[in-house]
Amino acid sequence: MTEHAERSATQTLRQYFGYESFRPGQQELIEAILNGRDVLGVMPTGSGKSICYQIPAVMLHGITIVISPLISLMRDQVDGANEIGIPAAFINTTQSPEEQQQVFAQADAGEIKLLYVAPERLQTQRFMNFAAHADIALFAVDEAHCVSQWGQDFRSSYLGIGEFIDALPDRPTVAAFTATATERVRRDIVKLLGLRDPKIVVTGFDRDNLYFDMLKLTTREKANWIARYVAEHADESGIVYCATRKETESLAQTLNILVPQLRKANGEQTDGTPVAVAYHGGMPADVREHAQRDFVTDVTPVVVATNAFGMGIDKSNVRYVIHHNMPESIEAYYQEAGRAGRDGEPSRCTLLWNESDIVTRRRLLDMGGQNERLSADEQEIVRQSKRRLLDGMIGYCRTTECLHKYMTRYFGEDDGARTSENGHCAGGCVNCESTFETVDVSGIARSISMCVHDLGQHYGMGKVVAVLRGSKAKDLLDRGLNLVPTYGKLHDVNEAKIRDVLNQMVADGFLFIGEGRLPLLQFGPRAGETVSPAFHYEIKKSERKSKSRGTQS
Ligand code: ADP
Repeated sequence: MTEHAERSATQTLRQYFGYESFRPGQQELIEAILNGRDVLGVMPTGSGKSICYQIPAVMLHGITIVISPLISLMRDQVDGANEIGIPAAFINTTQSPEEQQQVFAQADAGEIKLLYVAPERLQTQRFMNFAAHADIALFAVDEAHCVSQWGQDFRSSYLGIGEFIDALPDRPTVAAFTATATERVRRDIVKLLGLRDPKIVVTGFDRDNLYFDMLKLTTREKANWIARYVAEHADESGIVYCATRKETESLAQTLNILVPQLRKANGEQTDGTPVAVAYHGGMPADVREHAQRDFVTDVTPVVVATNAFGMGIDKSNVRYVIHHNMPESIEAYYQEAGRAGRDGEPSRCTLLWNESDIVTRRRLLDMGGQNERLSADEQEIVRQSKRRLLDGMIGYCRTTECLHKYMTRYFGEDDGARTSENGHCAGGCVNCESTFETVDVSGIARSISMCVHDLGQHYGMGKVVAVLRGSKAKDLLDRGLNLVPTYGKLHDVNEAKIRDVLNQMVADGFLFIGEGRLPLLQFGPRAGETVSPAFHYEIKKSERKSKSRGTQS
């Protein structure tokens, strides 16, 4: 970008938006777009993606089409843009044909800079006719991960976007944006939207006012731990996320009994008002709204909720978020935990988990709700992608590496986590502050590798474990799997331990869960290291030796 263009981008930011400077990533993206280069911006929600296409929309000659999946949000976006003097409009199914006609007329007359539409709209003849002769400067695709079947929100209508752009007489610059893009999803976005040599910018995922804590506790221990935490932080606001509606109600009840007891035992006064309130999608709307209002206005310090809680709730002084169960993906965890500390003040995110969370999540996934919009094949692909997302989450629970680093790298931001002077992450996390005991399980790891080899990489985790333990299951004997050399090789090691090592091996890239119809256990990119004689695989047991800071007492 010329110096002149750069100056005018900043000027546009000041003039229209009233902000002094760009946030990380924005300028790079805007610069590339103004130079006519396709871009993919991967930035978290709330980091300012809209500005990255709105500023070019103002500066470029012609109209900018914005593809947005949520009709409900279009009006807000359009009102916001018009308010600051950027002529914007949307076309969607909430309008009468006359209203739509009026917007087309304005667009034809060059009176609109930003036109928001849902992806389905591209398939209509009227829109195609419009686009065929319109002067389209930029094509912005919001929530671009919806194009990928490997993401959480696949939408088949997104698959038509690439073709639509290709069919335009003059190909505009294409800018795609998303908050959730793992490597695989990112590849899909580039390929399926037909981005040409895109500038990819990933930024802003680290929240360094958040301390990430994690504890492996049994279900019974979890409730007690939470009660103690809440009692010790009575003047703070917190969210506790549970996996089921039932759990939110029973845990809220438990907290309302235990917390006052603990505080009294500690010599503190309590006034009998409830400490915690439950919140979930199955509650009557008025009860839910009441719960939300009490929480937002600090009447009730703690809300115990399912993931239904959070969307559109603006409370900046949430000091802690506790997860009672392991969420289904890092994306979900990042979003929910990220509701802590919106005001930038130090806050704490604690994940409580245990092995049974993993089993439950896996079972829920395998049973999986049917999605009528998708064919059986597509459903299987979505299920597999969800398994992979779950693996990322399990990896987070098991890792001994810095949790800020794990998370930012997961989102594709390699150097995303800032480091402080002592070499720990700037935000702080339990792993950086712990010492770990090292247990040598290289023998088990090698046996697992050999077994995967013996089974020709044709079987899943369950069969590998069964063969190693010398199971007499009929299905296994019928297939002759008792004849392989590693059959029974780990008969004296318990199943949980084998699975633990196996999971670590998957997390660390020695093994890989295949992408075919069935989740077959295969060799990962680091498999060679397990068979070399120098290989020494170590599992690190996360015994916390030291802690802590932030709001932990
Ligand atoms: P996203 O689309 O990434 O979720 P938005 O585009 O809605 O995020 O932006 C979130 C908020 O951040 C908006 O209020 C926006 O005005 C503000 N914002 C964006 N860029 C900047 C900036 N450079 N300086 C200050 N505030 C900004």
